Amino acid sequence: MVSQPPLTSLKGIGPALARKLEKLNLYRVDDLLFLLPLRYEDRTQLVRIGALAAGSRCLVTGEVLVSESVFRGRRNLLVRISDGSGQLTLRFFHFSRQQQAQFQTGIHVTCFGEVRRGKSGFEMIHPEYRVLREGQDATTNDSLTPIYPATEGVQQARLRNLTDQALRQMRAAPPQELLPTAITEKLGMPSLAEAINYLHRPPPDADVLEMLAGTHPCQQRLAFEELLAHYLSLRNLRALAATEDAVALKNGNEDVSSFVAALPFTLTDAQRRVVDDILADLAQPHPMMRLIQGDVGSGKTVVAAIACIKAIACGVQAAIMAPTEILAEQHWRSFCDWFRPMGIDPAWLSGSQRAAARRESLEAIASGGAHLIVGTHALFQEGVDFKRLGLVVIDEQHRFGVHQRMALRDKGVSANGQPHQLVMTATPIPRTLAMAAYADLDTSVIDELPPGRQPVSTVAVPEARRGEVIERVRSACAGGQQAYWVCPLIEESEVLDYQAAEASYQMLTEALPELRIGLVHGRMRPVEKERGMKAFKEGVIQLLVATTVIEVGVDVPNASLMIIENAERMGLSQLHQLRGRVGRGAAQSHCVLLYKSPLGRIAKERLAVLRDTNDGFVVAQRDLELRGPGELLGTKQTGLPDYRIANLVRDAELMPQVQIAAEALLRASDTRAEAIVRRWLGDARRYGKV
Ligand code: ADP
Ligand code: MG
Repeated sequence: MVSQPPLTSLKGIGPALARKLEKLNLYRVDDLLFLLPLRYEDRTQLVRIGALAAGSRCLVTGEVLVSESVFRGRRNLLVRISDGSGQLTLRFFHFSRQQQAQFQTGIHVTCFGEVRRGKSGFEMIHPEYRVLREGQDATTNDSLTPIYPATEGVQQARLRNLTDQALRQMRAAPPQELLPTAITEKLGMPSLAEAINYLHRPPPDADVLEMLAGTHPCQQRLAFEELLAHYLSLRNLRALAATEDAVALKNGNEDVSSFVAALPFTLTDAQRRVVDDILADLAQPHPMMRLIQGDVGSGKTVVAAIACIKAIACGVQAAIMAPTEILAEQHWRSFCDWFRPMGIDPAWLSGSQRAAARRESLEAIASGGAHLIVGTHALFQEGVDFKRLGLVVIDEQHRFGVHQRMALRDKGVSANGQPHQLVMTATPIPRTLAMAAYADLDTSVIDELPPGRQPVSTVAVPEARRGEVIERVRSACAGGQQAYWVCPLIEESEVLDYQAAEASYQMLTEALPELRIGLVHGRMRPVEKERGMKAFKEGVIQLLVATTVIEVGVDVPNASLMIIENAERMGLSQLHQLRGRVGRGAAQSHCVLLYKSPLGRIAKERLAVLRDTNDGFVVAQRDLELRGPGELLGTKQTGLPDYRIANLVRDAELMPQVQIAAEALLRASDTRAEAIVRRWLGDARRYGKV
């Protein structure tokens, strides 16, 4: 692995094949070593036909008894073979005249395929086969046969041949061992070359089940190094930021104090702790890169507001970006309430704004007249020029891509350095996963809810009992409470989404004529949505029918009942977020998860998790186990790279050791750290490039 020969240096690879291999992300010989088999077949021993079992994939050999072409709806070639212990039929639907002619009575063949139960005993459909020459014995393999991820036009035999060549090269010049021996010894891990060799060509007695589960020590060895590479790369980014300049925000402590004193509540200890972390970061002449994790309702917004006050008091602009219009609008309202009394007039920027209002905002942002800017994705788009952006706050950061975060940061890059960054997420993720995903950020956790919050009591109810649920809404609203009715999420179809919400709205207005009912969905114009939300917030509307547009951040403390239709279709974290809209006031809140029977196993587990806990961390852990980290972190959008071998759920328990190894390498300024990153992430340095 010292040199990096291209794939075309191998025998049998021309430009055409090289292009096909690129689809499997294979560019260099070494890449082949990391293309691990998906599964293995056992061709190390011949199975006696009399001992075959249906469903297994086996290697057998036998003498051809008879071969005939028959018509069973279509032409079939049937070849009957025997090895003395029993008989097996080979069945072909597609075959050439030559093939048919090959199978002469009395010749011997070996074949490999899946054993099925046919009309007259066991059969194999389209087995791989070989006709043996006179006196030739069937050969078996020394190792299990790897089955590689397929790509069009590249046969398994070809991939086996190429990996054979790559493995030979590797054995001749073994890759440098980059993990510190202290680690490999402590964890009892094989060497890199051993692990790679084993996984490509496992011995006949290898534990295939363990390998299929991905928990074999050889796989763990590779996963460990890959996790380490990603972790180191994020830590590099972090270290890089520490060398960048930023305006040190030191003044403004009085403004912060008077703001906090004027709040209608006192900050929780957790909020105070996180505020201290932030203020300490901001005072540094290097950009802050801090993540605030806090469950829904833990009060992240006010913490962000305090950071903004500090920035503004120090003469720089602060911008806060939210992923949806509704959420951005809500922040805008909160910030107006908080900041106007202090003589600060927030500016608003969104995609759906009228041209004149937009122009006015843009001017204020460019001239520096606007100190605080609230908005959506529109904030980092072209034509938005900040006078002196010193603090960037990104709410619900998992909804944004890394690129979007960087784009907003870049708006603030100037001769004075970079802006400080504060990112917030309500998706609490398990600690081990956070280590892997957010190693480029310092993390603070708001691990306490404001006082007086009661856990939301949650029940799952089948659709058939919808009538009872409607009665429940009726009595809650009659008692002065407010309720949400959340409509099914219909994936990838805003139109259907909105139709479902309309239908529920119709149904509910008929069933509950005495209630004031509103409707909010993703298809409405922002002003209409705004009007609906505002009416609900002010209590003018008692029951709000909504699509999942209300998922993030909406805050109406008097709402104490939430019905979620088709809850079985939603993910755990999303349901938890939705449920977080209630339980914000003094009254005991309830959440009813309406589902369509029958429930699948995973759906049943999901609903049970929500019934049993209100703890976002527990929910996240279960979500991770049930769905995988991509969904949870929104990695599809965040641009977190895919791992080749590691799996963040399966291998999360390696993270503490990965972290120890990484910190040791970094502390020792070990050049191996750099080499590990290069080996796994290539020169592109996906993280560093954004
Ligand atoms: P989230 O963390 O989900 O973004 P918010 O910032 O929207 O939560 O806060 C939820 C609600 O809690 C808001 O109404 C906010 O005003 C209120 N709140 C925040 N901090 C406190 C506190 N320390 N005491 C009481 N209420 C608080
Ligand atoms: Mg929030």
